[in-house]
Amino acid sequence: MNPLTDGFGRRFPYLRLSLTEACNFRCTYCLPDGYQAGPVRGFLQVEEIRRLVSAFATLGMHKIRLTGGEPSLRKDLEEIIATVAAVPGIRNIAITTNGTVLPRRLPGWHRAGLTALNVSLDSLNRERFKRITGHDRHAEILEGIEIAQQLGMPAIKLNAVLLRDANDDELPQWMEFIRDRPVSVRFIELMRTGDNQAYFERHHLRAEVLLDQLQAAGWSLCPRAPDAGPAQEYAHPDHRGRIGIIAPYSKDFCRGCNRLRVTATGDLRLCLFGDFGIALRPLLQHDTDRDALLARITTQLGLKAAGHGLHQGQTGLTPHLASIGG
Ligand code: SAM
Ligand code: SF4
Repeated sequence: MNPLTDGFGRRFPYLRLSLTEACNFRCTYCLPDGYQAGPVRGFLQVEEIRRLVSAFATLGMHKIRLTGGEPSLRKDLEEIIATVAAVPGIRNIAITTNGTVLPRRLPGWHRAGLTALNVSLDSLNRERFKRITGHDRHAEILEGIEIAQQLGMPAIKLNAVLLRDANDDELPQWMEFIRDRPVSVRFIELMRTGDNQAYFERHHLRAEVLLDQLQAAGWSLCPRAPDAGPAQEYAHPDHRGRIGIIAPYSKDFCRGCNRLRVTATGDLRLCLFGDFGIALRPLLQHDTDRDALLARITTQLGLKAAGHGLHQGQTGLTPHLASIGG
């Protein structure tokens, strides 16, 4: 049996590694008042990341996503990408970013070994984008997406959190945007976190509301690839891009879970909305702790629950997704 298999037979080829809790944006649903530094001891350093990723790779993990907070705030990001890329067994290195530094930094990340890019873009309208994120950086982000295409990045995905009365009428514009661009846009249903209850009640909209519009416009559901994540992807013969729906409140969402998370301070989180973390950092200080690290990861995986408790309003330890690497 694959060592990274939980008690429900789910396998975990995919690690989401947070590099920082800090962020330069103030997204209304995530950090509306901006990042407030807490009593953290500093985020994982390159050597700790190397030991962590090589332990997970030994256990059969082959895809790493670098996230945060905003991972591009790390000055050593290029070095981190190169370090992860050099770990035997790692085949895909992705990043999730708000995209503001893409024009300047993406070519370097690509040279270092980055294979996939997710950019958060909650609206195609500049004014709305500014209202949602608190920053007028739409132009740089669109330029960054063009550069990613010129570099020939094989997987470019755009994430838009679906928000009632803020961006929920843009599907036709998105369809037009991806007519000639081979990128996936994925609509993520707003998730409730510890800090955003009132906002959630005002803006949450079931992602399924998009399905009727997609079907009416001739989009059809793509077959699910093995080890695919939670997005349901739709394609259309006249469009080069795809549209994905990520609906965490849908039935059976957790049944396809294929990812584990490690926070920027080195805690393993078995679920985005779990109520405990497992400290790995003490075992990331010396190469000689490797066996103990492998044992801690595999033993703790047995504690992974069948599903989240979001339907009961249980958001676990997560005040906002910037704190865990959403
Ligand atoms: N700062 C980076 C970014 O925004 O792409 C990476 C971290 S961010 C926490 C990762 C993703 O989580 C983004 O696409 C963001 O829009 C999404 N996100 C944050 N809070 C969310 C929430 N409450 N519900 C759904 N998605 C959320
Ligand atoms: Fe920052 Fe990403 Fe959260 Fe927006 S969603 S505040 S960019 S961490």
